[in-house]
Amino acid sequence: TSSRMFTDGVPLVVEDVTRRPAAERAGILADPGFGRHFTDHMFVARYEVGRGWYDARLTRYAPLQLDPGAAALHYAQSIFEGLKAYAQPDGTVATFRPEANAARFVRSAERLAMPPVPEQAFLAGVDALVDADRDWVPTGPDQTLYLRPYQLAVESFLGVRPAHEYLFLIIASPAGAYFPRGVQPVSVYVSEDYVRAAPGGTGDVKCAGNYAASLLPQQQASALGCDQVVYLDAVEKKYIEELGGMNLFFVLGSGADAELVTPELSGTLLPGITRDSLITLARDMGHRVTERKVTLDEWRSGVTDGVITETFACGTAAVITPLGEAKARTGDFLVGAGVPGTLTMALRESLLDIQHGRVADTHGWLHRI
Ligand code: PMP
Repeated sequence: TSSRMFTDGVPLVVEDVTRRPAAERAGILADPGFGRHFTDHMFVARYEVGRGWYDARLTRYAPLQLDPGAAALHYAQSIFEGLKAYAQPDGTVATFRPEANAARFVRSAERLAMPPVPEQAFLAGVDALVDADRDWVPTGPDQTLYLRPYQLAVESFLGVRPAHEYLFLIIASPAGAYFPRGVQPVSVYVSEDYVRAAPGGTGDVKCAGNYAASLLPQQQASALGCDQVVYLDAVEKKYIEELGGMNLFFVLGSGADAELVTPELSGTLLPGITRDSLITLARDMGHRVTERKVTLDEWRSGVTDGVITETFACGTAAVITPLGEAKARTGDFLVGAGVPGTLTMALRESLLDIQHGRVADTHGWLHRI
């Protein structure tokens, strides 16, 4: 055990678990893929109404025991986060803006009527897990340790009301380079049948149900040979919002005068931490960045007549992904010249350089563990 605290009066117990042999770990880290392998530990804390948070511990990664009546299994009272730990050149490990994930996790909890995990407790849990499993942070090019904090209702009760019991867990999964063979443009399908989020709904938080609802449109996109879905606003089906798991940026013009435009936080798209970071980095580079509404028509005519020179998606998992072609019932169009755009790649390198500690962290975004 150690003397860490989870939250006021709740110690964070670190169990001494049996670790898998170094050779097995090395085999996994040589080709981790994404989300397939998990580290030796997991973090678990419990909550009960009237008692608050209790029993916070780092324990062996193992299956959970859940009552079949657990509320999350029935009504999806369940939220999650995604962030990464990066091996640093000096041998330490750092997470990227974890306070922003902690704050978003609180907002997600509040929207789903769950007791929020205090931000400091979220950070303590993430730090403890990364510290215990630092040998699982891969050191190959663009490799990371993906961290998945999540919270779910575990009270056994079939009424539709906020549960009285919750688990807060964090698991970690080594992740390989998203583009092992170099950055490739992805194709997208503009969904004019399904929407991701409506005003007043849950689109601006990370609740599990949002992702369940994205699977059918994703299948539709795949059937048409597209990699990702572009969602439009639910009301007018006119404005571009985001992809199923990434925010979007458009580059207008080129060179030093290029302007970046990204859909404004309308309440129906997820405020991405990568999106926010890129707005700052692009401004640092001297570019104008505008958050506003962008219509599908503006995008299509913009790429056709050359006003929009690049389009990319961004998120924790893929960092920055250039868009190649777009398919829509109202007409297909080619977004780029089939190769990633100049500003897209410059921003990508700039963000990766900070995350992997190759340049000075002038914004204080890295959190050393
Ligand atoms: N939009 C959605 C719907 C997402 O799930 C994600 C991934 N969290 C993002 C955007 C990108 O957010 P971030 O940059 O914080 O990973």
